Amino acid sequence: MDFYVHFKKYEYILNGKSQLLSDKVIILIKLWTELSEYDFSNTELKSLIDLIDWAIIHTMNITLTAEWQVYADLFKNELLLKIELSSKNFLARNLGFRNRFDKLNYVIAVTWANPTLEKLINIPNCEITNEEMEFFRQEQAHLVSIRLMMLCKSNCEDLALNLVTAFLKYLKSEHFKDDCCVSAEQKWFIFDMKLVLLYKFKDVDELESMIKLLSYEDGLYLINRFMKKNPKLMKIWKYSPNIVTIALPIYLQEILKENNSNNHEIFNQLIELFLSKNSIEDFKNLFLQSDLLTLLNRIKTNKNPLLKSYILELFVKNLTTFINQIEALKDTENATKTESATAQLAEIYSDLAEFMADKVKVARECVLTAFSLKPTQERLTNLEKLAQKSGLQIDSDRSNWVCKLHPPIDEDDARIYKCPECNKLISVPQVDNPLKVNLALNDAINTLDLPPELCEDLINCISNPRYKVLSWYIPWIDLYRICLLYLSNERGIRNFITELKFLDIDYSMFDDAGHHPLQEYGGIEKGYEKYLDSSFNPNEDEEEPETRSENCAIEGEDYDPNSIESLKKILSIQNSQEHDSKNNDVTHCSKNILTQSNSQHKDKRSKFKSNNFKRKLRSFTKDKSRKKRKHFKRAE
Ligand SMILES: [Zn+2]
Repeated sequence: MDFYVHFKKYEYILNGKSQLLSDKVIILIKLWTELSEYDFSNTELKSLIDLIDWAIIHTMNITLTAEWQVYADLFKNELLLKIELSSKNFLARNLGFRNRFDKLNYVIAVTWANPTLEKLINIPNCEITNEEMEFFRQEQAHLVSIRLMMLCKSNCEDLALNLVTAFLKYLKSEHFKDDCCVSAEQKWFIFDMKLVLLYKFKDVDELESMIKLLSYEDGLYLINRFMKKNPKLMKIWKYSPNIVTIALPIYLQEILKENNSNNHEIFNQLIELFLSKNSIEDFKNLFLQSDLLTLLNRIKTNKNPLLKSYILELFVKNLTTFINQIEALKDTENATKTESATAQLAEIYSDLAEFMADKVKVARECVLTAFSLKPTQERLTNLEKLAQKSGLQIDSDRSNWVCKLHPPIDEDDARIYKCPECNKLISVPQVDNPLKVNLALNDAINTLDLPPELCEDLINCISNPRYKVLSWYIPWIDLYRICLLYLSNERGIRNFITELKFLDIDYSMFDDAGHHPLQEYGGIEKGYEKYLDSSFNPNEDEEEPETRSENCAIEGEDYDPNSIESLKKILSIQNSQEHDSKNNDVTHCSKNILTQSNSQHKDKRSKFKSNNFKRKLRSFTKDKSRKKRKHFKRAE
């Protein structure tokens, strides 16, 4: 320790900005005198190396200034003498010091007075011939670095740019053999010098092309280096933040374009670095021209809390794009394309579920929508897991099941659906509340601390494309059974339940009728009265009668006439539901992110349960509403 204190007491003057060069030279000679006299026999070799490198760099810092020439006549010989004496002291300890002293003597002898060096610093883009190569071989990277620093310190950055350009050219030339003349650290230091010098002289094209030539790994290393550079050590590093600002977007955009999963880790690290210096808005702006699905796939696993809201936004945008694409494809009746777009859409819902894994109530809604679009066993298993995770009673014991699609048939069950697996008639769970707004999802999303518009969009995106029968509102045991049947025959169960339970009302077919107050008979549109008169039966039970349906497997008696009471009730429910949905934005497709799309959302069609009313209207509305549906537009 004493050893360091003894020599480094000179550091203050040698580094001092206000000290005269003549004072520094006197101190320098004093230092070398002491180095020549000190007894190093008990000093560790490593400490000696540090000490001599420290003394050499200070000597070069002084003798490579332009001002040195003024004092050289006066002090040069004495300085060389003291250095010679010191070298004997050091060489006595280890011969390996020879190289260092040779280099130091060379610098003091030559300083800047070398015709090749003069050419290299004065001619931009100087040609590298044997002469220049020989010069660089003699100088080596270490000395070139010191010359570059000295030129920058003396405000000769233009000369530094010439020298650094020539040296990098030499390193790249086929004649350059990596003869230990340059370490990786030195190479990057010189490379960095060139970047900041290019920036200083506004050659951004060349700067960018150098940045682009690096591998992503080297690019990440470059940004990490520039983020740590200290302008106090060298003024030219003040441009470091500018280099970071230019390089980061280049690598982020290039990696995204390439879409090579190998770069995933680097991409995430670059994102972290970017977000440590920029806002999330800046981040979004980087990718305005990028493919948003690729971007989503790239960042959906990123855990940075700053990104969460943006990732959800990307989910909404991508979901919307696919929903619209599928709508457009339906009109062209291109089944293969529709199929593959639907599969992709379902995949995005599954991804969203994974992204929201810590919010079980949101995740299970996403998986249910994915399952609705593309039922798979994997998704059904996932639904089971999520049901369990959300505290629902799961009875996973199916040991007594004869058929894999349903429990053993109970004699009391209304057996109405032909099981596609065992061909027996089975019951299908009664589904009661397809019209309810998904309050559970609303609540779950609204606890996420997201902007209200995003919440609304998410809710709509997650609910709207789903087959409405599939809902977490119905008891899990029923939902699970429907899911099993849905998985085995999606279309069959859809048709069956639709026929049995629901009626699509296409309000557009009433467009011409205008609005009439709902009165005893006046609430019924013109043309429907004939259903009312002959079949009036005030004692009609509200219980659902057994239903006849084309797809329904049961046989029964002719259906009963409606009661005027139930019809009135139905009409008033219809009216209030219509009213509710108008007042409640969540039944609209998202107005925010989604409005950018040109989709025609068809989910606004209300459905309600009414076997009696349904039967009466079916013959009238079925064909008409299906035709009209294509032209249906939501009212906004
Ligand atoms: Zn079966």
